[in-house]
Amino acid sequence: MTSVASNPGILYVVATPIGNLGDMVPRAVETLQTVALIAAEDTRHSSRLLSHFDIKTPCIAYHDHSDDTRVDQLVARLQGGESIALISDAGTPLVSDPGYRLVRSARQAGIQIVPIPGACAMIAALSAAGLPSDRFAFEGFLPAKQVARCAQLQSLAADPRTLIFYEAPHRILETLQDMAQVFGADREVVMARELTKTFETIKGNKVSELASWVESDSNQQRGEIVLLVHGAPKPENEAMTPEQMHIMKVLLDELPVKQAASIGAKLTGLKKNFLYDWALQQSE
Ligand code: SAM
Repeated sequence: MTSVASNPGILYVVATPIGNLGDMVPRAVETLQTVALIAAEDTRHSSRLLSHFDIKTPCIAYHDHSDDTRVDQLVARLQGGESIALISDAGTPLVSDPGYRLVRSARQAGIQIVPIPGACAMIAALSAAGLPSDRFAFEGFLPAKQVARCAQLQSLAADPRTLIFYEAPHRILETLQDMAQVFGADREVVMARELTKTFETIKGNKVSELASWVESDSNQQRGEIVLLVHGAPKPENEAMTPEQMHIMKVLLDELPVKQAASIGAKLTGLKKNFLYDWALQQSE
């Protein structure tokens, strides 16, 4: 069993840029310079970032599929008093990137975990997409095979939240086409490509039109991509508040359907035809 130092180390979870080195936050640089060890998704990939910021801290590779020994070693070093920074190739670790097993094991071992926030492609995309952002669901990467991908999309088709996906450039066209098939040609989709980089492109449209545009311009099938999908429209019944339903029920107790719908429209601001259909449904 590893002995725990009276002052265990801290595990820092450090976000790094998603393409623009100017997005590296000063606290990330300072943390990476001062910890005893950096656990990186790919040490060769990260060496460019580290040398740019003159960070000479030793690096070790860490993946969630690293064997248990690697996780145990890192937790033991933390318990022994060394602080470690976890980074991935780009953006925020654990967001479609390694880190979950290490963070979970460290937390279970009572180690303090400190996030150093910074770039994250899905949050950057959401902040600029102009889609509802009060509720959203991050879905990561869709399955690569079409049958599984369509099944996954189908399971999300009625979700009212904005849906966020990461997608590989060589699959972008077929994914947009599948979305048009499953969500309907008119569903609004925003494609955020090469965020923070020279060819940054953020384009929103009906998904069928977005698919045609991507098909006609092969440049749109390159680089790194986030797709954001407007949530499903609420079924009309759910669009009525309990108060509006109450008003209609009182009116329907006293008046014929047509008149109740007409007065109800004035009182609730909802469409007369909608209220008329709703009233008929109630009596079925
Ligand atoms: N951990 C990262 C984050 O915080 O966003 C995500 C890592 S995931 C392995 C890589 C995927 O993120 C890419 O395939 C792409 O879908 C998305 N991505 C990363 N950088 C991006 C960028 N600059 N512009 C658009 N999407 C990006």
